[in-house]
Amino acid sequence: MEATTSLLDAAAVGDLVLLDPLTEESLLQTLQERFRRSNIYTYIGNVVISVNPYRSLPIYTPETVQEYRNCNFFAVKPHIYAIADDAYRSLRDRDRDQCILITGESGAGKTEASKLVMSYVAAVCSKGEEVDKVKEQLLQSNPVLEAFGNAKTIRNDNSSRFGKYMDVEFDFKGEPLGGVISNYLLEKSRIVRHVKGERNFHIFYQLLAGGSAQLLRRSRLPRTGGQGGPGAWGGPACVCPQDAMKVIGFSPAEVTALLEVTAVVLKLGNVQLSSSYQATPAPLPPPAELQEICELIGLDPAVLERALCSRTVKARNEMVLTTLTPCLSPQGYYGRDALAKNIYSRLFDWLVNRINTSIQVKPGKQRKVMGVLDIYGFEIFQDNGFEQFIINYCNEKLQQIFILMTLKEEQEEYVREGIQWTPVEFFDNSIICNLIENSKCGILAMLDEECLRPGVVNEDTFLTKLNQLFATHKHYESKETQNARRVMDATLPSQCFRIHHYAGKVTYNVTGFIEKNNDLLFRDLSQAMWASRHELLRSLFPEGDPQKVSLKLPPTAGFQFKASVATLMKNLYSKNPNYIRCIKPNETKTGMLFTPELVLAQIRYLGLMENVRVRRAGYAFRQLYDSFLQRYKMLSPRTWPHWTGSHREGTKVLLEDLAFPPEELAFGHTKIFIRSPRTVSPGRGELGG
Ligand code: ATP
Ligand code: MG
Repeated sequence: MEATTSLLDAAAVGDLVLLDPLTEESLLQTLQERFRRSNIYTYIGNVVISVNPYRSLPIYTPETVQEYRNCNFFAVKPHIYAIADDAYRSLRDRDRDQCILITGESGAGKTEASKLVMSYVAAVCSKGEEVDKVKEQLLQSNPVLEAFGNAKTIRNDNSSRFGKYMDVEFDFKGEPLGGVISNYLLEKSRIVRHVKGERNFHIFYQLLAGGSAQLLRRSRLPRTGGQGGPGAWGGPACVCPQDAMKVIGFSPAEVTALLEVTAVVLKLGNVQLSSSYQATPAPLPPPAELQEICELIGLDPAVLERALCSRTVKARNEMVLTTLTPCLSPQGYYGRDALAKNIYSRLFDWLVNRINTSIQVKPGKQRKVMGVLDIYGFEIFQDNGFEQFIINYCNEKLQQIFILMTLKEEQEEYVREGIQWTPVEFFDNSIICNLIENSKCGILAMLDEECLRPGVVNEDTFLTKLNQLFATHKHYESKETQNARRVMDATLPSQCFRIHHYAGKVTYNVTGFIEKNNDLLFRDLSQAMWASRHELLRSLFPEGDPQKVSLKLPPTAGFQFKASVATLMKNLYSKNPNYIRCIKPNETKTGMLFTPELVLAQIRYLGLMENVRVRRAGYAFRQLYDSFLQRYKMLSPRTWPHWTGSHREGTKVLLEDLAFPPEELAFGHTKIFIRSPRTVSPGRGELGG
């Protein structure tokens, strides 16, 4: 038996665990060659790599669903349906809660993948009036959340600007009962600012193009021309998601209230504030736009104007009203922008909660759970700020859990199969997670400390503190630590620190860290919102109730995120993981175009090499005896055409005849394990599927 290493052969490898030799190059070339043949899915064990084809492929038809239904994972071509089927069956038949973790950079196809998984599961689980209703509600939550949480960006016309985790809950027969959605970190800055060529959240355009005449009249908003609204872009994302909300169970009054608050955010952006505002006596009537907003939400315009332009500060037990200079500054209207961002992000949280109320399962019911995580992948930009820091922290945690779970799973499988466990070296990223999240001296804790410190706080003192703490940390770098270590490096500016993440080095600019972490809204504004007669709007600002004035600062953004990541990790860790790693093959959204440099960068960010290594930690290849024998019995005259003994015996005989070295093999209770992929080469084109 010959070990062929030609790349053409490698291209046929459906499972990269079998790649030989394993190099970045061979991995890249395999993906490229498969992509060229329209094989957009490739495995690393049971991890699916998905390369975005940017055109519709005929591989999601009802016939394909049938083909993968109850399929043998290894006997069919790699497909996202195969992993969905495997996860669903394992949940239904083996009572194992599942989670599907989808990562990749913007435009790589995460959201599409999550929808493919959901629609596959919806198609194969049973039908019936009650079940269909639940399915519809779960599926319709997508267009609603996408309307409010997605926007056109340079990278993706339908980019999710929030992270999403959804637990779908099933009963013991595998019928869906409902679910729970968690959202992470909505990019609320988009409300007030976006890059040229990008747009605000879809809902604003949908509202103008598709909101009811009555609503637009009352909000005094113009209707924009038909499909698409501003910008040349069409498709379902233009349709106001009122019908979807109805399916989920929103009352007409709720839909109206939701869209009214959306209109308020839209109109706030157009409010021009006077640069000569005086609290008393107010010289001019408030701007027209502001009056219209107040009409819509039942609030005295003078109250809102005052809250936007001035601030009450407590000085020696006395409340003093000061005019806000930021509202005059060229950076724009600080208070107005903060209010718009706050209303919108709270509205988004309300929306998620409201959907959850509809889809939640009554307590007490026995249930099995499939969680689907669609969250931003690792980000390395020219300029990286607080947001990238937080996102990359989350990805670092996901990598950690990947390692832990893969090894745990391996270990469990070996025990189950009665095989000796031999651990193998790999990079453990706990040290990086700890650098960021350690509750005493991690970067997030230091940032919180800075934010809470009375007196003048700024990012310089924050950075100085980090430099002292991590002067010798292997994964931390800054101008100062470089100088101390006598490293010459012109690429690291002084107001930055750099972290060596598992996926690469990222330089973060500390400017804005404190403000973003504090994420404060002046009390005057929350009190003004609470004073409005608009029930929904008012409910979004409970802290505006003067009766409930609390002196405690709300938790910081970083603190909250860390807590929600911890909850997420705990949740994921209790489930059986399934991974989908998405790759964007080109920058121009072009069909079937593969840019090797771009993909290589993602192979690194996704940690795919590490992925393969962890998977190979023990035995690279494993398969149930019966399917193995079924598939390869023609390779030996003793097993072909019929083998009458046990599948295990048959496999033994077959591998003997193929002269497999015994030390390469382990015979488990139900599966054959083969250590090195090299040994599998003669049939590997097939072995990989
Ligand atoms: P973001 O992080 O910006 O939300 P994403 O990873 O969620 O990005 P998607 O919105 O899922 O990316 O995909 C971007 C676009 O790529 C889709 O709108 C669609 O046009 C195309 N696409 C993704 N997956 C597929 C697929 N399997 N087949 C065909 N086209 C796809
Ligand atoms: Mg998305």
